[in-house]
Amino acid sequence: MFDVKEEFGSLVFDDRVMKAVLSAKVYQSLKKTIDEGAGLDLSVANAVAEAMKEWAISKGATHYTHWFQPLTGITAEKHDGFISPAPDGRVIMEFSGKELIKGEPDASSFPSGGLRATFEARGYTAWDPTSYAFIKDKTLCIPTAFCSYGGQALDKKTPLLRSMEALNRQALRILRLFGNDTVKCVRTSVGPEQEYFLIDRQSYEQRKDLIYTGRTLFGAKPPKGQEMDDHYFGVIKPRVAAYMQDLNEELWKLGIFAKTQHNEVAPAQHELAPIYTTTNIATDHNQLTMEIMQKVALKHNLVCLLHEKPFAGVNGSGKHNNWSLSTDTGVNLLTPGETPYENAQFLTFLCAVIKAVDDYQDLLRISVATAGNDHRLGANEAPPAVVSVFLGDELNAVLEAIENDTPYNAAEKTQMKLGVDVLPKFIRDTTDRNRTSPFAFTGNKFEFRMLGSSNSIACANMMLNAAVAESLRQYADKLEKAKDFKAELHAMIRKTIKDHKRIIFNGNGYDESWIKEATEKRGLLNYKTTADCMPHLLDKKNVDMLTSHKVFTKEELESRCEIMLENYCKTIVIEANTMADMLRKQILPAIEKYVGKLAETVKDKKSAVAAASCGYESKAIVKLSALADGMYEKTEDLEKTLIELKSATDIVAESAFIRDKVLEKMSALRILADEAETLCASEYWPFPTYGDLLFGVR
Ligand code: ADP
Ligand code: MG
Repeated sequence: MFDVKEEFGSLVFDDRVMKAVLSAKVYQSLKKTIDEGAGLDLSVANAVAEAMKEWAISKGATHYTHWFQPLTGITAEKHDGFISPAPDGRVIMEFSGKELIKGEPDASSFPSGGLRATFEARGYTAWDPTSYAFIKDKTLCIPTAFCSYGGQALDKKTPLLRSMEALNRQALRILRLFGNDTVKCVRTSVGPEQEYFLIDRQSYEQRKDLIYTGRTLFGAKPPKGQEMDDHYFGVIKPRVAAYMQDLNEELWKLGIFAKTQHNEVAPAQHELAPIYTTTNIATDHNQLTMEIMQKVALKHNLVCLLHEKPFAGVNGSGKHNNWSLSTDTGVNLLTPGETPYENAQFLTFLCAVIKAVDDYQDLLRISVATAGNDHRLGANEAPPAVVSVFLGDELNAVLEAIENDTPYNAAEKTQMKLGVDVLPKFIRDTTDRNRTSPFAFTGNKFEFRMLGSSNSIACANMMLNAAVAESLRQYADKLEKAKDFKAELHAMIRKTIKDHKRIIFNGNGYDESWIKEATEKRGLLNYKTTADCMPHLLDKKNVDMLTSHKVFTKEELESRCEIMLENYCKTIVIEANTMADMLRKQILPAIEKYVGKLAETVKDKKSAVAAASCGYESKAIVKLSALADGMYEKTEDLEKTLIELKSATDIVAESAFIRDKVLEKMSALRILADEAETLCASEYWPFPTYGDLLFGVR
């Protein structure tokens, strides 16, 4: 029997373990580093390393690795054994402070987007003591940041940590202005809700598209999809339930607070949500969760698909990033307060977020942009690619009253003056099921819903943190100089509402009329694809903001833009090649066989009964042959386009060409193949169908 209380965190070198195995002096000094970012001297590092090694060995570990998050989007590790030769020919187990603090993996095979050429081929990893070390596959994993020798970030964690620091700096300035001298640190917390599909492993292994690209490139609509709404929150099937239980146990051992699980809208789609925690830890945990989800699935003869759009025609998978700001004293700054002063402070932070989302819509869109996620955001699926903020009716009415200097509550004829009135207490509105908003206020946090299921949450959070830090900086600059703090604050909040109310939208985000209003009347951005948005990462306003808060250097941004576009292009080229391969090697031969069989029947029938009617067989032959010809032609066309692609002059041109030409040819080819599938007998079709994949797990 798995004892949750006993096992939770049993594979983590957490505070409990540190207290137990480190001397008081070493513990204090490490704690100072974790809480306040104080430097760590080598003697302390040596003591920590020794204790970590002993603890890890006692848990069966033989190796250690620096565990990091390069720009590939997944995590990386290079295992080293603890063993060292001893003079007597035996071995001793060693792990030094130096090995704990710094590693030097060869960086040359990780994407660096030009940084390598400018700087150095080597990279180094540096211990992030704010995220606990843990054991996975008999290996002690040490969470680290990954940089080039020139100090340029080559990973997702470094800018995330910098963005948290930037937000902390600016939020503290605001809190001091509100007279708060006790808070030492403001942190962001995140709870990511993770969606995924679970399919049978045997079926998966017969589909080259799933194997090579993570999504189906062909597949006719099955007779039943998600139209009955009978999967969402439905009873969990036994095989899936067994998987979820096993998964939870693995995650709990790693100290991950997996808490909620349920079926999602599409058949075979599910969700897992942990309890929220500090952003960088939530990021590490989400990366680990995705990895463990896939591993545990294999044990159950299942495959976990994390792609944003594995199947056409049913919902894709996203990740909801629930985000809030809180102090080390335990106060959530996005919770409306009890007193007028607290309310004013709440509105200040709320408005800072609204302003940030409006000013940096592009960065938020960019932060979730991948070829996979374009299938959700750019298509008719929630949320749309247009960024907007949902506040709910009550809060909206408060902001309107402030903007117009009108009474909030018509019964009391007082005007909204910040710092005077007590705002109504907002009860967490459980009726808030506006699931179409990309960025929704849900009572004491914002839920950013544009992330794709396979995205690292680091990207969205670094941009969000930086953008909010910038709003707060502007506020603090003004307020610190103000003669009359209350008057200045009131004017500033009013101005924010006036200037940024265009980003607030409480209606249905799926609605075509909203997209029209958003883009034509309100002037909001609508970047449908990665190719559209990514180049704007380098817009002056974005570079200025991100460099001024020291979240990125200009070179790092240039390299990231290049890597993300390269990734987009490579992903789609692989998909196109996979389509051509499946078409030539599987689909056409299958049709040929089936048509041959039909033709034989026609021949047999004709010889049996002179001039017998062979209506159905002949019709099917004609239709399938025409489709096969069409497919062959379209495949050649697609391949020609891929050759033309090679003459693109740079990565921006290449991605635009893919967006405009390659994707279109891929969908033209798919339409024909899907029609052929519906005409072909099951026993001839060369791979499992949508029906098999979506309804195959019991
Ligand atoms: P929903 O009704 O949208 O499923 P839940 O209450 O289940 O909302 O929360 C979803 C996620 O939000 C969970 O991961 C939860 O831990 C997280 N969450 C709750 N409160 C906060 C908060 N203050 N800051 C960040 N995340 C939070
Ligand atoms: Mg939810």
